[in-house]
Amino acid sequence: MPRDVLTSKLAGFGTTIFAEMSALAASSGSINLGQGFPDTDGPPEVLDAAIEAIRSGVNQYPPGLGDPDLRRAIAEHHHRWYGLDVDPDTQIVVTAGATEALAGAMLGMLDAGDEVVLFEPMYDSYQAGIALAAATPVPVLLTPAADGRWHFDADVFRAAISDRTKLILLNTPHNPTGKVFDRDELELIAEVAIEHDLVVVTDEVYEHLVFDGSEHIPLATLPGMFERTLTISSGGKTFHTTGWKIGWMSGPTELVTAARLAKQYLTYVNGAPFQPATAVGLRLGDDYYESLVGDLQTARDRLASGLERAGFTTYRPEASYFVTVDIHSIGFAGDAMDFCRALPATAGVVAVPASAFYMNAEHGAHLVRFACCKQLDVIDAAVAKLVEAFA
Ligand code: PMP
Ligand code: GLN
Repeated sequence: MPRDVLTSKLAGFGTTIFAEMSALAASSGSINLGQGFPDTDGPPEVLDAAIEAIRSGVNQYPPGLGDPDLRRAIAEHHHRWYGLDVDPDTQIVVTAGATEALAGAMLGMLDAGDEVVLFEPMYDSYQAGIALAAATPVPVLLTPAADGRWHFDADVFRAAISDRTKLILLNTPHNPTGKVFDRDELELIAEVAIEHDLVVVTDEVYEHLVFDGSEHIPLATLPGMFERTLTISSGGKTFHTTGWKIGWMSGPTELVTAARLAKQYLTYVNGAPFQPATAVGLRLGDDYYESLVGDLQTARDRLASGLERAGFTTYRPEASYFVTVDIHSIGFAGDAMDFCRALPATAGVVAVPASAFYMNAEHGAHLVRFACCKQLDVIDAAVAKLVEAFA
């Protein structure tokens, strides 16, 4: 067996924290509030459409750009929710989840030594995608303020841009904090991108999971931004189909083409029968989208209140699947990784250390993320265990 086979680009990367913690949940029989996936099925119309597609022979490679009707449904979706007009034939490509669109964007746009400015904590695949492109991530820290919202320092953000910056990578609504970047913040990002002639890649997979009447604003809708923004999303969170891995990217043809050229050599295409089924989901009425977010907001409140009862300082998210807590607030002296590895034995629950979302894990050493995209009785059972263990 030859030694040192792993590319140096992946030095320091191990099995993802989500795989590790889901395996721990399975082996310990704990309640899994780690990896973000719903424990209920999505809309029956969407599931039925996939079954129907399989039965009617939609089982071979779809077109390279993705099923034309799904691309039309994505274009309709962008118009319906955001007033964006995107050409389904030249400005949209279907991908193997948002993950592949992100990887395609990094591999298709970055050269060795380029810098990517992004906010931390950050979703784990960003660092890996940037590393595989031999580029360098430049993080700008988000910190929770007294009002519970996560903020960044505008001067630090501006100072992060250098001559080597090629891309800004923005995740809104944000995993793990649940932050929804507001218009002022987006205007600042747009101003900096235009001033320095940068491309922005946005990850908007939680676009429909925004609570308390807040608004998700795609950066591409700001003046002057469509032409420099590659917008990425997927159906997984919106239709409770995270295992289907149907995602997409949209934007000006030049950016979509760059990302597509890399994407086509990753999977080429994927998920033929799940593509028309995702189109059915995108065309569901407003009542579906309202109940989706309403149910999740109830679950967020149930989990956040429960975590507070267990004694944690809790950051109630503005959006997404996740509630973050400060483990130092219950007197735990170790770090988030130790806490999460011990949690199955201590409380029979699995969570994810938010430190895994930081380049400098020290910055998140006190933060642990719990998923609220679960049935209320599952959340209640987990909370009861946490209250018993810690309160
Ligand atoms: N981006 C963020 C912020 C995520 O939380 C996730 C995880 N679901 C993804 C991308 C990956 O999305 P997909 O499953 O569509 O690849
Ligand atoms: N996005 C999900 C999360 O943040 C997990 C996806 C994955 O396992 N890669 O929990």
